Amino acid sequence: MTGATIVTFPSGAVVESAHVVGVHPAEEGAVVVLDRTPFHPVDHTWPDQPGDRGALRADDVEVAVTEAVMAAVSDEGEVAIGAAIPVKRGAEGWTWLVGHRVETVPAALAAGAAIEATVDAAYRAGLSRGHTACHLASLALDLAVADLWRKDPGSDALGSPDFEGRANQTSFIHPDGSVDEYRLGKSLRKAGFDTEEFAGSLAEREQRINAQLDAWVASAAVCRIEFDGDTIVDRRRWVCELPEGTASILCGGTHVASLAEFASIRVSLDLSDPQLLVMTTTAVPAGSPS
Ligand SMILES: [Zn+2]
Repeated sequence: MTGATIVTFPSGAVVESAHVVGVHPAEEGAVVVLDRTPFHPVDHTWPDQPGDRGALRADDVEVAVTEAVMAAVSDEGEVAIGAAIPVKRGAEGWTWLVGHRVETVPAALAAGAAIEATVDAAYRAGLSRGHTACHLASLALDLAVADLWRKDPGSDALGSPDFEGRANQTSFIHPDGSVDEYRLGKSLRKAGFDTEEFAGSLAEREQRINAQLDAWVASAAVCRIEFDGDTIVDRRRWVCELPEGTASILCGGTHVASLAEFASIRVSLDLSDPQLLVMTTTAVPAGSPS
């Protein structure tokens, strides 16, 4: 069949001229594959950031893209879309594609057609702020609980004890925010984390995180995406030049170019289930009325 989709979102693109490679019927809406795309798809194994929305236009015909998704074609020609992909991202024997889910498929979107692919830039910007805020909140959380470890759990991207890596169980990003869940069970206690002391000082920990986030937003630190190649399964890293050091985290998502794009980032911690910490992160974009 064809080569892997070339992706241009890592360098910030939201519009591309492209050609239709194929259209695959699917229950939740047909999926259009292009030779290159600015659309960032939701990951099929760790669906933390929703896929981009936008539109595909061929001549005078425009169709809405409801969500960009991962797609893959096996060497035997089997096409799999989104959560139905039976292998891990990047697995050998598969060609990796970005699918654009559409509600209708006009004849103008046939294979070979020249089209313009346009991402909903406001929605993308909100997700990029939400994802960057999510990383910063996690790093600030690791710092704010660093004194609660009696054993070394390994280090995060800033060299703090890696609470995030040990306890994070789910992460959901939305425009201008995220919700992260952390498992505070027996295995975390065995790993040397003082869950009782944490529960007894929750409000103070939350204050520490928010003070750290205020400082990072005030630093207007520069962030970038580093990538090893231009397919969807090439490794990408979020890199941010924080005052404490350069943080580099493996991450396939989209992010802001500078922390100056935020007016503020705040978290709230919820421990109503003592085994499950829920951290809710809320970002306010710079320049928005307060
Ligand atoms: Zn990420």
